Amino acid sequence: MIYPATQTNIQKAAQALKQGNVVAFPTETVYGLGANALNAMAVAKIFEIKQRPFFDPLIVHVSSLEMVKYIVSYLPDMALQCIKTFWPGPLTIVLPKKNVIPDIVTAGLDTVAVRMPSHHVAQQLIEHAGVPIAAPSANPFGYLSPTTAYHVEKQLGNKVDIILDGGQSPVGVESTIIKIEKDSVTLLRHGGIPVEDIEAVAGEVSLIRHTQVEAPGQLPYHYAPTTKIVLVKDVSNIPDDSSSGMILYKKSDISFKNIHVMYLSDNGDLRQAAANLFACLHALDAMKLSVIYVEEIPDVGLGQAIMDRLKKAQARHR
Ligand code: AMP
Ligand code: MG
Repeated sequence: MIYPATQTNIQKAAQALKQGNVVAFPTETVYGLGANALNAMAVAKIFEIKQRPFFDPLIVHVSSLEMVKYIVSYLPDMALQCIKTFWPGPLTIVLPKKNVIPDIVTAGLDTVAVRMPSHHVAQQLIEHAGVPIAAPSANPFGYLSPTTAYHVEKQLGNKVDIILDGGQSPVGVESTIIKIEKDSVTLLRHGGIPVEDIEAVAGEVSLIRHTQVEAPGQLPYHYAPTTKIVLVKDVSNIPDDSSSGMILYKKSDISFKNIHVMYLSDNGDLRQAAANLFACLHALDAMKLSVIYVEEIPDVGLGQAIMDRLKKAQARHR
């Protein structure tokens, strides 16, 4: 059930987490499905509800640097610098883990992915629970991520007792994931912090080698609606058919009468586009159309995270 994120309801959700239950809650990236990261049984419920494969490790959410130190065995200077600059916020850092984090959280890896969310509901929930919270997005594995409480209810409503409603997720795409080893930084997934911003702080960020399966970006498809997605550069030749949908990057004066059109942004603002991405896909997917055309987004800054999600969505029907 959906509960408004009042103090009382946040406390109630924190209590549920302490008791080993699973709670859906808002973060600035997308809605998360959380459990006590120190409790393997509780974390197992996340995998069960999402039908997520056990080889896919979870991100652990913290509310303080003390919590990071409790779960991480080594914090390089470079990590501290990134933490200072980007936390709280949509950056996940993969670091060597301590034994308090059970294997189910990390898929048996000796590293753990950590993030401090900036959303005040997420922060308060973690603080009240008093433990780090493992949380992937609150959707069935492989499907579109939820950016509202309603999206969560629609997809997992019968499996999650508490869905805290904190409004629409302002960033709208998942966190950027980097791995930090001594002085080297590797990008594992594009996301809410553009890689150019990280390079400004950390120097060159290398891209992951594609032989390693370390991020869901390596899976053939992910973040996918059930409707077929087709990316197009030039939308002016798309047939104007009422059984199709179209997502445009920005408002334009091309006129369509029949096709169902949605806009990611008013004037091409990439932040606005990221924030609206999953909501547009959810809305058109619910209409059971035969195809959703999506205008390509400039592949720079946040556009890289958006294009990554769209390419993965398109790959489902390839
Ligand atoms: P999400 O599905 O948005 O919760 O993102 C979780 C992703 O973070 C996983 O698919 C992993 O690929 C990545 N991740 C989590 N833990 C690790 C880790 N220890 N090493 C590398 N990547 C990780
Ligand atoms: Mg996810």
